[in-house]
Amino acid sequence: MKLSYEKIRLRMKETFRIARFSTDFSDQVVVYLDDGKYVGMGSATPSSYYGETVDTVIAVLEYVRPTLEQVSDPFDIERIEAEIERQIRRNGAAKAAIDMALNDLIGKHLSMPLYRLYGSSTTTPISSYTISIDTIEGIKRRVREAKDYPILKVKLGTEEDMEIIKTVRENSNAIIRVDANAAWQPKEAVEKIEQMKSLGVEFVEQPISPYDLDGLKYVYERSPLPIIVDESVEFPWDIGKISDRIDGINIKLMKCGGMRRAMEMIHVARAMNLKVMLGCMTENSVSIAAAAHLAGLVDYVDLDSTLFFVEEPFKGFSNDKGILRLSNEPGLGVNKV
Ligand SMILES: [Mg+2]
Repeated sequence: MKLSYEKIRLRMKETFRIARFSTDFSDQVVVYLDDGKYVGMGSATPSSYYGETVDTVIAVLEYVRPTLEQVSDPFDIERIEAEIERQIRRNGAAKAAIDMALNDLIGKHLSMPLYRLYGSSTTTPISSYTISIDTIEGIKRRVREAKDYPILKVKLGTEEDMEIIKTVRENSNAIIRVDANAAWQPKEAVEKIEQMKSLGVEFVEQPISPYDLDGLKYVYERSPLPIIVDESVEFPWDIGKISDRIDGINIKLMKCGGMRRAMEMIHVARAMNLKVMLGCMTENSVSIAAAAHLAGLVDYVDLDSTLFFVEEPFKGFSNDKGILRLSNEPGLGVNKV
């Protein structure tokens, strides 16, 4: 298979801010694998929190180029990905882009959209819409703009958390989920979650540091709301270490390394009777579609990033008021415009 790729930068409509960073654009690497009959496409949105940048993605792609260019059959995906895993650890976004391109090729050879191949469906949970950290006035405006979305995911981890969540509640009847992005201390988390319960919040994502396992137990045992972890679980083997102190996990293709790894995580979580959420970084339609093809297999969906770009050069996927719309074309069903 012939490997090629291109860097793209997508501009955000407005600044996206969470507890540890803010950004006005998203840098991505779009990957193409040509097997002589079809071209498969994938995309990486690297996150520096997980040690990746556009440059590391490209370095990984070049490092595994000989492996990819030696093989001709995308159906050999398990062996190809095992070989890449043997050569280089972590680097989930780079691996996810390769995995997506291989999956896209498989779907094209079978003339089948990937959701069918994975036993998923185009009927999926409704995606939440993210309210990023802002001033109270800014929160009011963002909530007004989100009036068509039935589920809001509110980013917290500020001095004004309770004011923010009260403002959202006063200005919206939507289901509210909260994501502290690891910013709280355990005691603070329990106090805030107790107040949030009375405001009708559905669940809380990553209240505290992923490194504080005792703190996570403390919060889980006292929290009146379900605890979903995101930063605490990157790979399938992370889940078992904390499965006794969480209610569910947030899987992202950019963390775990693609659709196949995400499937492993879904199975591990189900075996441990955990809830499953599918989330995203600031990703384009290529990788959001890849996640959306698995979204019929999970409980909660947070795949909203395509709503926040000024424009992007892909067609074939859309988010319609939180409803994920996949095309019925083979593979990912997304094409470059
Ligand atoms: Mg999160």
